[in-house]
Amino acid sequence: MSGFLVVAYLIAGVLFIRSLGGLSKQETATQGNVFGIMGMSLAVVVTSMAWLDKEGVFDRGLSGQLLGLGVLLGGALVGGVIGGALAKRVEMTGMPELVAMLHSFVGLAAVLVGFSSYLRPATVAADELRHHVHLAEIWVGIAVGAVTLTGSIIAWAKLKGSLSGKPLLLPGRHALNAIVAMAIVGLAVPFLQATGTEGLIYLLIMTVLASLLGVHLVMAIGGADMPVVVSLLNSYSGWAAAAAGFMLSNDLLIVTGALVGSSGAILSIIMCRAMNRSIINVIFGGFGADAKPGAAPAALPAGEVREMKSDEVGRRLLEARQVVIVPGYGMAVSRAQATVKELSAILREKGIKVRFAIHPVAGRLPGHMNVLLAEAGVPYDTVEEMEHINPDFPQTDVVLVIGANDIVNPGALDDPTSSIYGMPVLEVWKSKLTVVFKRGMAAGYAGVENPLFYLEGTRMLFGDAKKSVDALVTEVKK
Ligand code: NDP
Repeated sequence: MSGFLVVAYLIAGVLFIRSLGGLSKQETATQGNVFGIMGMSLAVVVTSMAWLDKEGVFDRGLSGQLLGLGVLLGGALVGGVIGGALAKRVEMTGMPELVAMLHSFVGLAAVLVGFSSYLRPATVAADELRHHVHLAEIWVGIAVGAVTLTGSIIAWAKLKGSLSGKPLLLPGRHALNAIVAMAIVGLAVPFLQATGTEGLIYLLIMTVLASLLGVHLVMAIGGADMPVVVSLLNSYSGWAAAAAGFMLSNDLLIVTGALVGSSGAILSIIMCRAMNRSIINVIFGGFGADAKPGAAPAALPAGEVREMKSDEVGRRLLEARQVVIVPGYGMAVSRAQATVKELSAILREKGIKVRFAIHPVAGRLPGHMNVLLAEAGVPYDTVEEMEHINPDFPQTDVVLVIGANDIVNPGALDDPTSSIYGMPVLEVWKSKLTVVFKRGMAAGYAGVENPLFYLEGTRMLFGDAKKSVDALVTEVKK
């Protein structure tokens, strides 16, 4: 069995790497998903067989075999049915919360695996050193798992809107985090010295401390930094899985966990760069929440809000030579992507150059807008990243901002009191006309006023984005 298992794990590992490679580009994302599904199916089947073999189920009588298989299939069936039902019910706008919730499950699994391998070790360590190494794996695995579990639950509540996006800034919060982290490290000493399962009490205290640390770390992070938190928790969930792999001596789980952990860490760094944030500041929280020294208090944007009706927007679009569409979270909420694609296709047929501009943190999930546009069938070569399209705004005749707010906020560039100050944004105001589609004057996710709405070259098209784009399609078809 073991030789077969090694080969199967190797193949599954290669499939996971190919999957990650495929998922890095829209054109190959479907293929990447297929590789991932193949790798995971292979992993689940061979791991299940290895478990049945190890537990001696194959050598038992029929009733014993049925019981062993029943435990395995029963668990897979219950989990599969719950997962399937949830995935079917979840709206595209609910994906970020679902992802945060799934990260918490990985954390919970690592904690449970840790406790079970402490209370009922699968193998007896050959010597003292290996026993201590195994205990250290349990300690680290449970600590990372508990931080991931509670941190992800708080992230889920913040993304769902059940908890405010405002950071919780306790006095002396960094000292508090440092004390808890030191206690987690310090308690490992008596835990490693304890015999049998006498160290359980230390393990329990540490789990509570790590859980509180997870809550505090994510509570301290403000709305605008949430994208980094989501990808960081993704990374933590990978390390938690890798720790579980060490505890269970499962090589594939170690490899998979390390792949998820490192790709999540790379994504966090990319997101931080895109938002001009320091990863250390995001991890330790509260960045951007304190007023910058010497900065004047934020003034309400000057100027007046000017409306434009869909017939006038339609007319201006037909006169344009270059149009850029900026999708944001509101497009996802109103599910306007298919109509937006139809609008872009009609304009293109009339010889107008239409492109889509994607901000790295648009929506509520890394790649959120790319997924929606791909789902609607928007050609990939018309979708541009922020750094490529920003220099083109001065030559653009009309920009349609569809349900976006923070990612087009000029205050991020020139208002030091803004909590998103320093984040690069799509500089739509440099175009000849900017039309903003939204329902009212509400702020975006970061909760800051947007001076764009008051600028000379900006017009507001109020209403649900889908209805407004529907009306616009009718206008340009006339
Ligand atoms: P924002 O949340 O800043 O703004 C969305 C706007 O859409 C709102 O101002 C809202 O205004 C409008 N809107 C909502 N529903 C509708 C509708 N049905 N029709 C028309 N408009 C609607 O979104 P952005 O995409 O600009 O920015 C993303 C924000 O989310 C950033 O702050 C980012 O940091 C954060 N974030 C991003 C994550 C990621 O990974 N991408 C994860 C977590 C947070 P109104 O109510 O007036 O209509």
